[in-house]
Amino acid sequence: MDKKIWKCPRCHNHTQGYGATSRRDNKTMICSCCGTEEAIFDFSVAESKRKGEIIPTETIQRERSWLEV
Ligand SMILES: [Zn+2]
Repeated sequence: MDKKIWKCPRCHNHTQGYGATSRRDNKTMICSCCGTEEAIFDFSVAESKRKGEIIPTETIQRERSWLEV
């Protein structure tokens, strides 16, 4: 197990060991907490779409805004 400490680009917290690959670009390594948050976000977006709800563009943009900094 890799014990190197690194900084998560999504939440800026220091984390250790393995993280998760971001679903936003499929290459950036983020911490496992953020990986879970992205999964929950995607799930809620899918759920809203299933119910026929419109997801505001700002919501989607805010979710991936950390990638553009
Ligand atoms: Zn994070």
